[in-house]
Amino acid sequence: MNKGVLAVVSGFSGSGKGTLMKALTSQYDNYALSVSATTRKPRPNEKEGREYFFKTREEFEKMISRDELIEYAQYVQNYYGTPKAYVQEQMEKGKDVILEIEIQGALEVKEKYPEAVLIFVTPPSAEELKRRLTERGTESEEVIESRLNRAYEEASYMKQYDYLLINDDLQECVENMHQMIAKEHCKIQQNQVFIENMKKELKVFKKGDSI
Ligand code: 5GP
Repeated sequence: MNKGVLAVVSGFSGSGKGTLMKALTSQYDNYALSVSATTRKPRPNEKEGREYFFKTREEFEKMISRDELIEYAQYVQNYYGTPKAYVQEQMEKGKDVILEIEIQGALEVKEKYPEAVLIFVTPPSAEELKRRLTERGTESEEVIESRLNRAYEEASYMKQYDYLLINDDLQECVENMHQMIAKEHCKIQQNQVFIENMKKELKVFKKGDSI
């Protein structure tokens, strides 16, 4: 069996990528969403092993030194990283694994796994981003401003991604993302196992030299 696709998703805070991931994984069963490790404290509605594996700094640093992470980054004074074992295991099973991580980590993944597909999620406009951040009603003016500033900085990295995904209509966005990943399955480098098998099978029929 061919291995699954490794898809890395990043996007501005307020791009709706969390909702998008939930919708995609509930509608299609070929996806496995990686659960990251972090040193940040759990939010009230978060559960160990569901949103994150919550670690102390010491535990996290041990994971780094044991080479248990595909990538890790510091984000707002906390560590975030992707555990290797789950990702590899799911890809071997043929699942398409999704990492929802920030830009630094995404670029690190691309360096280690050039075949990974990098997808950047954005609202249709900056105005809409501001509207979504304000509408949440959970953040102060100051936090919204700092998220918008950060989005401005992050925008310069968008061109390093493979695909841009504009999140306007949620369902359309789910379909677009599903199509992007489906296309990756057709790439030659994604089909090494198939190609090797085909060659073996053809060898059985081979008689003498041809071209
Ligand atoms: P939050 O604290 O809001 O859950 O996440 C903060 C940021 O960390 C988000 O941009 C999220 O995508 C990113 N993030 C979550 N897990 C990982 C990870 O394993 N590695 C990296 N590099 N970033 C992550």
